[in-house]
Amino acid sequence: MSETSRRRALKIRMILLDVDGVLTDGRILLGDDGVELKAFDVRDGHGIKLAQKADIEVGFLTSRKSSVVDRRAAELGVSLLFQQAADKGGVFRKILQARKIRREEVAYLGDDLVDLPVLRQVGLAGAVADAPLEVKAAAHWRAKSRGGRGAAREFIEFILKAQGRWQEIVKELHG
Ligand SMILES: [Mg+2]
Repeated sequence: MSETSRRRALKIRMILLDVDGVLTDGRILLGDDGVELKAFDVRDGHGIKLAQKADIEVGFLTSRKSSVVDRRAAELGVSLLFQQAADKGGVFRKILQARKIRREEVAYLGDDLVDLPVLRQVGLAGAVADAPLEVKAAAHWRAKSRGGRGAAREFIEFILKAQGRWQEIVKELHG
């Protein structure tokens, strides 16, 4: 990946992830009882743990609302959880104010057009491999993996490696 995205990654202290199409493949399974099911990638989850270990705050930013997302966030110790964010760009600006963090210090991984207002503001904008052209064009970094298939893990790995933290964190957790 380009030197520019690596340089951008150096400043990152917070990683925000979209949910549908990023942490999942975008499909939503609907049961007769109205219950929604989503499939998450275990390796993405582990990537989130590694980022947290490196003192990078991880959050989810989604325009939908689903109890499985509450549950996944709780499982991974993700307290920065924003659901029903109809205006993602506006919610992002509120996060910056509330967390007293500069936009250059935030990375965001998205998969669709609704992510553009955030992708255009963050220090490091990422797109999953199966994102539409406009999203890829707005991104500084593009995953080789598709949403729900390791794209978030790849993004986190890229950031930690750029910061020279990857080996130390892996060693700390896995010897
Ligand atoms: Mg999405």
